[in-house]
Amino acid sequence: DVPLLDVRDLTVEYATAKGSALAVDKVSFTLRRGEFLGIVGESGCGKSTLLFGIAQLLSPPAGITGGSVEFKGRNLVTMTEKQLNTVRWSELSVVMQSAMNALNPVTTIGAQFRDVLRAHSYDTDINARSREVMELVGVDPVHLGSYPHQLSGGMRQRAMIAMALLFTPDLIIMDEPTSALDVVAQRSLMVQIKQLQRELGFAIIFVTHDMSLVSHFSDRLIVMYGGQIAELGDTRTVFDTPRHPYSRGLLDAFPSIRGPRVPLLGIPGSPPDLAELPTGCRFAARCPQAMPSCTEVEPALYDVDQVLVRCLLHAPDRVGSKETPV
Ligand code: SF4
Ligand code: MG
Repeated sequence: DVPLLDVRDLTVEYATAKGSALAVDKVSFTLRRGEFLGIVGESGCGKSTLLFGIAQLLSPPAGITGGSVEFKGRNLVTMTEKQLNTVRWSELSVVMQSAMNALNPVTTIGAQFRDVLRAHSYDTDINARSREVMELVGVDPVHLGSYPHQLSGGMRQRAMIAMALLFTPDLIIMDEPTSALDVVAQRSLMVQIKQLQRELGFAIIFVTHDMSLVSHFSDRLIVMYGGQIAELGDTRTVFDTPRHPYSRGLLDAFPSIRGPRVPLLGIPGSPPDLAELPTGCRFAARCPQAMPSCTEVEPALYDVDQVLVRCLLHAPDRVGSKETPV
């Protein structure tokens, strides 16, 4: 059957002083109805840009230079702003990293809900619907009368999710919605998001730098590096047996959802400059398993037992080769 979302070769570039930066490089994946997909990677790997590209929220100098984003059979990339506005909130909504930035600071939460509802010609029972979604996310509807700054960080994020739920969309795209919260609030919000998803049946794309956090909730995972998919597969498989050396490093960085956060211990260095990408594997400069050919041959996405892995160690013609790590 037709997937809810079909992203094909999506490419996003932006202009820099050094020339064009390839922030998202031919990313392809599909999403089923009701599926929870996690997208993980360090900052600077293109994950937020990918999310903005899917939601058609990029602004210059960043822009889509190739590929398509088919949502329920319609290509969002070629839609006009007017067409997109009919899809936004009602069928697809976005929850940003900071509700403080996403919400209007001088308008009450309730007034912002009303504006969204009215923009989609929803005129009756506005108060009832607003109260309903606040209750869904566990915030006292009395806070519809509050301004964003009057709420705690956790309540603001919940209010933002409530707003995203006004029309019970088919897809909610979330960009690190819990990253500003402490560990306890983060965990409880994740549990609540998952519960809402089960009850209401929407699909989620959840972007985070914390692979351990999302792995408790997602069905599948995409690990991004250097603007590309490094690994894509079923969450349990990727989590239990990460095949890409970068996925392994990410997991080592966050030993457990409750554990302390530490930098990428196994992987010193930082992601490549997207305006000056190296030849060969984009991870080679940091990879503990790099071989001489890694700086010459660009790895493709290899299918290894239904997990896609962009690493020469898994290239069919190289598996078992005698090449030794450098
Ligand atoms: Fe490491 Fe080479 Fe695999 Fe890249 S292709 S991840 S450098 S082993
Ligand atoms: Mg980001």
